[in-house]
Amino acid sequence: MINVNEKMAALGTQRSVIRELFEFGKKRAAEIGPENVFDFSIGNPSVPAPASVKEHALKILSETDPVLLHGYTSAQGDSGVRAMLADSLNRRFHAGLTAEHFYLTAGAAAAVCCCLHGLCNPGDEVLIFAPYFPEYLVFVQGAGAKPVIIPADTDSFQIDFARLEQALTPKTKAVIVNSPNNPSGAVYSAETLKKLADILDAHAASYGHPVYLIADEPYREIVFSGRKVPYLPDIYRNTLICYSWSKSLSLPGERMGYLLVPPSVDDFELVYAAAAGAGRSLGYVCAPSLFQRVCAACVDETADISVYETNKNLLVKSLRDMGYHVTEPDGTFYMFPRTLEDDDVAFAERAKEQNLLIVPGSGFGCPGHARISYCVPTSRIKKSLPAFERLASQYRS
Ligand code: PLP
Repeated sequence: MINVNEKMAALGTQRSVIRELFEFGKKRAAEIGPENVFDFSIGNPSVPAPASVKEHALKILSETDPVLLHGYTSAQGDSGVRAMLADSLNRRFHAGLTAEHFYLTAGAAAAVCCCLHGLCNPGDEVLIFAPYFPEYLVFVQGAGAKPVIIPADTDSFQIDFARLEQALTPKTKAVIVNSPNNPSGAVYSAETLKKLADILDAHAASYGHPVYLIADEPYREIVFSGRKVPYLPDIYRNTLICYSWSKSLSLPGERMGYLLVPPSVDDFELVYAAAAGAGRSLGYVCAPSLFQRVCAACVDETADISVYETNKNLLVKSLRDMGYHVTEPDGTFYMFPRTLEDDDVAFAERAKEQNLLIVPGSGFGCPGHARISYCVPTSRIKKSLPAFERLASQYRS
């Protein structure tokens, strides 16, 4: 008899709703032509990486000893690369960082997993604000901890503090924050973050152990109207930052990111060691060697992400004119309008009949909404508007 870990087998066979929609879109495109399918299901950046990525990659490939370049780096990443990251954040945030505070990872996902596996013991609880990136449930459970969901404030998509206070217990080990947020596009205001920090400080003081803030920030650079995402350790000292170049440099397939354990974290050397040990136990070995160097060389650049703001403006205005209720996103390339009926799954099915692929909010812990990933060319958004209008008109009659 074949005996495998059933939880893992289930994870390996269940396709995510997003992937299913994406696959449906490919099938539908073969039937009716790709120009007639409006696929807003997946968060793959639509703009190319900047030309400098290719230039630096070619230069590094031609000038670096190949044995060194394609070899393993140290587990935490090349020390020169980590020093360049520290310099960049020190320039931007006066952060007082050195290479020792960075652990390079295969994307933000691996950084979040290093935090969770490094921090959590069995029975620990990790708070997650809805609407959330669905993989957090998998990551937290995979680390042997219990995810505790805090329902959304669906007007602003900031934090519902009354619900946060109810959810905190002596077992709370960490809170995951994702701002700019997938799927709502919200960026937490300085006021929200300060209030969050005060509540976590008070909680830590009464229970005698810190509550870590795991800041998952792959969209840090994708913000609108000149907004800035605050450097969270300035507001809450026990913050661990998970970053990646998947979105800002349009490099999701290259799998490059980092975990930053700043010196403000209580006993940061121990926390760093635990995260590094987690990376080791998960078999991460080291982040991709070539792209460690490429990302360091491009550290202060982004892809031309301005199209996301253009798309956001066009969609928010057009959808509101059609009668949709949309909270305006502050960043990312997602928006999360209310569905025109309570059942978001039924609504997304009706959208599919118009060849509009949007993701029901239930999968993000927030029913009654749907996610639109507008990381597509603006011309696609324009072409999709009649389909959104046909969908809305069904609910008017
Ligand atoms: N966190 C959030 C909120 C995301 O939306 C994503 C990807 O879409 C990730 C983490 C994983 O990103 P990465 O490619 O950096 O691992």
